[in-house]
Amino acid sequence: MLNIGCHVSSSNGYVKMLEDTIYIDGNTFQWFTRNPRGGAAKELDMDDLNEFLKLREEKVFGLLLAHAPYTLNAASDKEETREFAKEVFKYDLGILEKIPGSMYNFHPGSHKGQGVEKGIELVSEILNEVIDENQKTIVLLETMAGKGTEIGSNFNEIRKIIDNVKYKDKIGVCLDTCHVNDAGYDIVNDLDGVLKEFDNVIGLRYLKAIHLNDSMNERGSHKDRHEKIGKGFIGLEAIVRIINHPLLKHLPFFLETPNELDGYKEEIALLKESYNE
Ligand code: FE
Ligand code: FE
Ligand code: ZN
Repeated sequence: MLNIGCHVSSSNGYVKMLEDTIYIDGNTFQWFTRNPRGGAAKELDMDDLNEFLKLREEKVFGLLLAHAPYTLNAASDKEETREFAKEVFKYDLGILEKIPGSMYNFHPGSHKGQGVEKGIELVSEILNEVIDENQKTIVLLETMAGKGTEIGSNFNEIRKIIDNVKYKDKIGVCLDTCHVNDAGYDIVNDLDGVLKEFDNVIGLRYLKAIHLNDSMNERGSHKDRHEKIGKGFIGLEAIVRIINHPLLKHLPFFLETPNELDGYKEEIALLKESYNE
């Protein structure tokens, strides 16, 4: 079975996210734990959450993926920004302990001129402060496009962060197809080669989720602009190879394409049609 869903709006609560996912024929979803641009977390509505957890039992739902705000930068040169990142991590991971079967994805961050090595050191430090040995939630580092001073746009940088993390069973990677394309990896003509490199450098056992997006830009552009499935430089054929690849096909796939729910519904129908059970 293809495990697929999309990024849904969290503004109306958990039950609504489940309903939206059922509407588009998905069986998992990704959501922002708070406003993507940062800011305070909304008060958690326990009735809504409990109702959601009950409803989820009745449906077949895969692993869910929470996404930290874009503005979170654990590699920042500013102490207050790193402090904010730490607070957000702690708070969000606390909530996710109440939602079994969820993972937490974040952007490794931007080093802002301090250099990649320093950035890696700062992110790792915070991860070690916020990851608890007994937590159930796995924290995922997202592969990035390499815009500006972003870290995590090559597998070596991700590997170095993982190397520094103490509780390695609590850390994983979310591969974003638009980002890796924009970072320069040739997933269109050499998917096997890219996965081999991922395995050699990071280890495929760390790969826990895929952000399935086409890209508005050519490979190596370092742009990070998502396109609808089949409408960009990655193209439908390559995307169909990704969802069917024996090393990937069991993973949860999350669409982050520029769509409303009806557009996601169409993409999911198309991808299910192209999926070999
Ligand atoms: Fe992301
Ligand atoms: Fe992504
Ligand atoms: Zn992106």
